[in-house]
Amino acid sequence: MFTMHRLQPLLFQPVPSETAYPLTELMQEVRAGYFPEIDADVEVRIAASGPLAWIAPSFMGENGHLVVFHPVLNHPETPIEVLRFICKHELTHIVRPGRVIAGYYESHPDEFWEHEAEVGPERFAVWHWVWGNLRGCLRETDAGLRVARRWRTLQPRWRRPYMPSLPFKGERWDIVCPGDGGQLRLPPSWVVPPHPMKRHRRPRRLRT
Ligand SMILES: [Zn+2]
Repeated sequence: MFTMHRLQPLLFQPVPSETAYPLTELMQEVRAGYFPEIDADVEVRIAASGPLAWIAPSFMGENGHLVVFHPVLNHPETPIEVLRFICKHELTHIVRPGRVIAGYYESHPDEFWEHEAEVGPERFAVWHWVWGNLRGCLRETDAGLRVARRWRTLQPRWRRPYMPSLPFKGERWDIVCPGDGGQLRLPPSWVVPPHPMKRHRRPRRLRT
């Protein structure tokens, strides 16, 4: 409750979206295209609360979820593919919620990762971009990946595009990049180890 109380003024303060595509519209597009089973409003806010993004299911009432993006992502050079994938990750928390496994609450059980891979095969390419561009302001903590408090000074002066170069070996474009690159399929080996998504064991529900 303390966290909610502390965050509320930030969460309800309108922050203009500086991304190339408005985050709210992007979230609606992802919900409609990949999560037709979610019959609820998904509000988007921007707040520096630690994770790159997180979701509070039913935060806006029974039929309204809240997704919060860290302002380090609120940048015109953050690729839309990265933002779209983060929307997919957060909405997967709604359709594949966490559960208790062996007495321990796991917010990302196996079925979560399976569903995320289904709707977001571009996950490795996205994490490759995140690590390649935002590594300087990310911190591995016991609670998971967090954005440093000094992110404003630590963030890169410019951000590389989503696909600067690819390990193509003559593969056909439509196989490597289905959806015209929207779902770029890079192998897991392209993610700078350790793989952040598999290392998180978050005991609480609201962490990303
Ligand atoms: Zn998550």
